[in-house]
Amino acid sequence: MKYIVVSGGVVSGIGKGVIASSTGLLLKTTGLKVTAIKIDPYMNIDAGTMRPQEHGEVYVLNDGGEVDLDLGNYERYLNVTLSRDNNITTGKIYKEVIEKERRGDYLGKTVQIVPHVTNAIQDWIERVSKIPVDDTGEVPDVCIVELGGTVGDIESAPFVEAMRQFQFRVGYENFALIHVSLVPDMHGEQKTKPTQTTVHALRGLGLLPDLIACRLIVQKPLDPATKEKISMFCHVAADQVIGVHDVSSVYHVPLLLQSQGIIQYLQKRLNLPGVKISEHML
Ligand code: ADP
Repeated sequence: MKYIVVSGGVVSGIGKGVIASSTGLLLKTTGLKVTAIKIDPYMNIDAGTMRPQEHGEVYVLNDGGEVDLDLGNYERYLNVTLSRDNNITTGKIYKEVIEKERRGDYLGKTVQIVPHVTNAIQDWIERVSKIPVDDTGEVPDVCIVELGGTVGDIESAPFVEAMRQFQFRVGYENFALIHVSLVPDMHGEQKTKPTQTTVHALRGLGLLPDLIACRLIVQKPLDPATKEKISMFCHVAADQVIGVHDVSSVYHVPLLLQSQGIIQYLQKRLNLPGVKISEHML
């Protein structure tokens, strides 16, 4: 099983969900079976008890699970059927750990965020990633894990730490990280400092980005000079910096990623079959 974690920096609502689903779609086009897990670092057990004006539309899954609307993106982009367990929240993890503690499963131990909560997160991801999500009933090859919130938040800290440990649990060639960052366009000048700061914070937490997806909230693509600068200051090669500007439909994002060689990069990085995607396949 290959895991591709998508994290975000600088601000929320940056387009992580769309980038995560688009990456999954491209991998599916190469013939791989793809599943997805969305992590929402809030204490609610699920999105069903949240006011839609505050949280956005609640998406209802086939098993009745009331979840974040990103799960809807995954079902549509990947043509899969997900279950409530594909949405992890802080509430669900804490409930599981506290129930285990009451049952006496940890008897004699002090129950702590590290290792008990972080282990529960990793066990959950490993278990759910292997559940078949399409009619073939086969175990997926790739699991996209979208980490909601922003790296550096108190809320997401246990999940970031769990991912730091997880890269060693599953091994280098089974774990890749895409970090989505904001590149503000100030009167035509693309600014790299927020990206430098968030990548610095990410590295400080023990996670190294394999790809940095730079979101521009304008319809202008990432300048080659900006890409070079991010490569230089964030300690990655230029082909690891991907520009994602505003497009007229989010269904154009897969093509935008594909045109920048994201699939070739992931195939090499994760030792995946080197199937080439031609435009008519998308
Ligand atoms: P996050 O997962 O970071 O909260 P989403 O993927 O849900 O963000 O995207 C937030 C909003 O931005 C959505 O309404 C989505 O349709 C829109 N969006 C994301 N990427 C793009 C893009 N490249 N061009 C235009 N709109 C986008």
